[in-house]
Amino acid sequence: MPKKPFDIDQAIRRIRQAVKPWPKAAMFELAEEGFDSAFEQLVACIISIRTYDEITLPTARRLFARAHTPLAVSQLTVNEIEALIRGSSFHERKAPQIQAIAQRVVDEHNGTLPCDREVLLSFAGVGPKCANLALGIACDEPTISVDVHVHRVTNRWGYVSASTPERTMAALEAKLPRRYWIEINRLLVPFGKHICTGQLPHCSTCPVLDMCQQVGVTAQR
Ligand code: SF4
Repeated sequence: MPKKPFDIDQAIRRIRQAVKPWPKAAMFELAEEGFDSAFEQLVACIISIRTYDEITLPTARRLFARAHTPLAVSQLTVNEIEALIRGSSFHERKAPQIQAIAQRVVDEHNGTLPCDREVLLSFAGVGPKCANLALGIACDEPTISVDVHVHRVTNRWGYVSASTPERTMAALEAKLPRRYWIEINRLLVPFGKHICTGQLPHCSTCPVLDMCQQVGVTAQR
């Protein structure tokens, strides 16, 4: 059966409903718990790199319970930070990065991380994904954060056609209405984990099957 043209407004409405039963992506969950400063969001994003949300959440909470301001984190030793974030992948590399960020915020920005993309990207360990998430969630700046889920899902829809997450981000910036720039990550992380999964996506029960081009999908449930 020929597909309907992809209607992003309708897709977003349906996916909002579909993801309601599942936990929010870690960064959004932490923001709702009050860890919503640019510094906290950036640190949580570093902790989340190559780490499951189920691990990221308690790990970030453990660090923030001990220290959640740049000044407090800067006063911890690298070993103390490493012990606190031990559950996170590559914690031995992330601990000195987090300590260095806290120290620079104290030394160069009076202890408050500014909502400034250039500053965020100047830190070792911070790439466009974490900078955009922190700016979007903590600073309300319309940015699109493209992780593996956003990349996979929007390409399967046929909404964009891009070979890397970076190219998907550029394609979405040119096409996706700004009102969805922050929300797309919040929706497509749980949608990609539970419905449009990497292997065997659940197309038969998917709420956007009627308009998804299913690009590259060779086997499905
Ligand atoms: S129809 Fe299949 S490929 Fe398309 S979004 Fe749904 S689960 Fe993903």
